[in-house]
Amino acid sequence: MKYRIGVDIGGTTIKAGLVDEQFRIVERMAIPTLSEEGADDGVRVANGIVKLVRDLCAKKGVPEDSLEGVGVCCPGSVDAERGVIVYANNIDMHNVPLRELVKEQTGYTVGIGNDADVAAYGEYVAGSAAGCRSALMITLGTGLGGGFVYDGKIYSGWNSRGGEFGHTVIEVDGAHCTCGRNGCWEAYSSATGLIRMTKEAMQGDASTGMWELVGGDIEKVDGKTAFDAMAKGDRSAARVVNLYIKYLACGLANFINVLHPEKICLGGGVSHSGDALLIPLREETYKSVYGGADGKTTQIVRATLGNDAGIIGAAML
Ligand SMILES: [Zn+2]
Repeated sequence: MKYRIGVDIGGTTIKAGLVDEQFRIVERMAIPTLSEEGADDGVRVANGIVKLVRDLCAKKGVPEDSLEGVGVCCPGSVDAERGVIVYANNIDMHNVPLRELVKEQTGYTVGIGNDADVAAYGEYVAGSAAGCRSALMITLGTGLGGGFVYDGKIYSGWNSRGGEFGHTVIEVDGAHCTCGRNGCWEAYSSATGLIRMTKEAMQGDASTGMWELVGGDIEKVDGKTAFDAMAKGDRSAARVVNLYIKYLACGLANFINVLHPEKICLGGGVSHSGDALLIPLREETYKSVYGGADGKTTQIVRATLGNDAGIIGAAML
């Protein structure tokens, strides 16, 4: 059996997994990112990764020289070709040549990529888009991440600066986005966008059942509040969900019309609402597909790897 190691760097923890040839994570470990210790020139994170690699091999009894390679994914702007983390705000790294730093200490081939791209790659290789030639993954979390894979390769543009699917405007002069623009898809279709719309609806309707779900505390609203209240027949909640689906479908149809991938895989917290989201979402999206939707139109499915997509995708880099 041959193994690879995938590493997923987050704001609070660095997670790593030993991945076998069937794309299963057979052993996992995590260490704190220690971002509270301030800016990292890469040495701290690189040393952490090297330790994780050694410990994982030791724990599973895998000889270190039989590892096929190590892959790393990280949020922010990552130049995959040069192996450099250009900018990652939540772990305070700037122009860190992480690939070289890890390679120097371990001798392994090291792949590196942006976390949204790498999660898409994981789904493409081993998850909901396995067997497809092209796939777009959209992650509906605090932000809205996107990754596009075609012919086995992540496409993220020149110098890896593209793939910012969430930062495309779907409402001119619309809601303010964290990137500085107004009306971005992310501002509407991320969990954060859904929470904002849920709160707005609650503020305009004192009798909606959504208040009861959060115990009267609007700060307890999350990405499930509207879906849960809708399931109980609440009309304000149903309006929120419909509006959310309308925006999400608008963006999906835009990217279907541009890329027409074989599959769009939806991940992230909001995707856990399952069919209550997916069934009306497909209907709404297909209305806007150029030339009409038929059996040869992009399929919209739920991602299947969950939080493991990053580790598995990174291992396969
Ligand atoms: Zn934006």
